[in-house]
Amino acid sequence: MAVTGSPELMIVMAAHATADQVDEVVARLAEAGADAHVTPGKDATVIGVIGDRELLATLPLEGYPGVEQVLPILKPYKLVSREIRRDPTVLEVRERRIGDGYFGLIAGPCTVEYREQTLGTAWAVKAAGATMLRGGAFKPRTSPYAFQGLGEEGLEILAQAREETGLPLVTELMDPRHVEAVVGTADVIQIGARNMQNFLLLSEVGKADKPVLLKRGPAASIEDLLMAAEYIVKEGNARVMLCERGIRTFERATRFTLDIGAVPVLKQETHLPVIVDPSHAAGRRDLVLPLARAAVAAGADGIIVEVHPAPEEARCDGPQQIPAAEFAEFAGEIRELAALMGKVIG
Ligand code: PEP
Ligand code: MN
Repeated sequence: MAVTGSPELMIVMAAHATADQVDEVVARLAEAGADAHVTPGKDATVIGVIGDRELLATLPLEGYPGVEQVLPILKPYKLVSREIRRDPTVLEVRERRIGDGYFGLIAGPCTVEYREQTLGTAWAVKAAGATMLRGGAFKPRTSPYAFQGLGEEGLEILAQAREETGLPLVTELMDPRHVEAVVGTADVIQIGARNMQNFLLLSEVGKADKPVLLKRGPAASIEDLLMAAEYIVKEGNARVMLCERGIRTFERATRFTLDIGAVPVLKQETHLPVIVDPSHAAGRRDLVLPLARAAVAAGADGIIVEVHPAPEEARCDGPQQIPAAEFAEFAGEIRELAALMGKVIG
């Protein structure tokens, strides 16, 4: 359900509060002209209260039956914050899971180039234990002269790869004009780094009934990323995962600087799953595994990695793509490390 305003307060219900008591609080808030956003939790239900602060201050919220505590929501992000939902969110996509003990291993080509390339990669990553297939049909390229992706034909190739392998698809949506085509085909809608603050696009995917993989902009702060996620969740789509993919710094040895510290910070600040893209951060194949290891060790809920049957021939991001023939070994290392961190590949 879309949220109409900013949740200012949260009502933490007692562990023993009944569903009727929750309904009663919501009804009383409605009578007083306030809206409620109910988040059930393992230990307690939390009700986010949306309404005029002065009006809310006059309500005897703490005296309502079943209410344990009333607290202000202090962070600028509300629905995505850990304050409002203490339990981690687990995203389920075609029986694959990401979050709270389930590690997502998303792999596939940077770009859908031709059928055999995409199908070959899909089968290779599936055999190695990947849980989802990535691949761009609409590509955000720095140069307007570079290959921009196959568009709808690329989506059709991805759909075939899903049909053959059963892997759910992660693919990027760049423009509100492509919503129907991309949302219709994707299992997870990727919002790329360059579009992290395209607020109209965020609102569009907030209305979609598919999970969203939101990448951090190269010049965005962690708070900016969380506020971008809030745009999506506010529209009613709570199925969002965040992706650290490197930020722009003065350093040139890597393509971007992987902000590994963002992983534990995000894990503290939000209940949403947090994944890492070591490929775009590294820009070089030899650094992808060490950065992926760091991601797992830092507590990430998954990684998204670029894989190509013949990276030297790739039309996009060749230097950072892992050869498909080497991916099984890569995946094996990640699986072992994830197990050390108490996680299973979802
Ligand atoms: C991608 O994952 O295909 C991509 C373009 O990455 P980013 O948006 O992080 O640059
Ligand atoms: Mn790429």
